[in-house]
Amino acid sequence: MKIAKNTVVTVEYKLSDAQNNLIEDGRQPMVYLHGGYENTLPKIEEELDGKETGYASTIQIEPEDAFGDYDPNLLKVEERARLPGPLEVGMQFEGLPEGGDDEEAMIFTVTEIADDKVVLDGNHPLAGMALRFELKVVEVRAATEEEIAHEHVHGPHGHHHHDEDDEGEDGEEGDHFRTHPIH
Ligand SMILES: [Zn+2]
Repeated sequence: MKIAKNTVVTVEYKLSDAQNNLIEDGRQPMVYLHGGYENTLPKIEEELDGKETGYASTIQIEPEDAFGDYDPNLLKVEERARLPGPLEVGMQFEGLPEGGDDEEAMIFTVTEIADDKVVLDGNHPLAGMALRFELKVVEVRAATEEEIAHEHVHGPHGHHHHDEDDEGEDGEEGDHFRTHPIH
């Protein structure tokens, strides 16, 4: 079966930066619903469209087609006391940018901890980086009607609805893969 809109694609991948430093070894393959549902990066869909099981390639994706340029305005310094403890560099919080509203909640990563101040970075950890994906298609199947309606993949491993995508779907017992390779 060829990869086309409304197929579910299983891809083994290895993610490196442009200097070939390994970022993620993809021990868990990515499983996503193909067809512009924003389940994965558009450049990956573009590369795999029309291909079949066994297809392998390596693509490089520039920051503007991945997680954007690094924006120094998204760094903020917060009072240590305003954050829950214990804190470690690398921890992530959901928060609002300065002057933002609920529509703009974003993930901040702790990048520095001083005595009473914490530096939070609202950039995606992969912002500003060119990404190199080694891809290998291992399975292609037709999506179910329910998957198409939900715009994501349902899997056999008992994953729950990812709440940010599925508000208002309470009561449905769908199983879900995490379809995005970047955490
Ligand atoms: Zn669902």
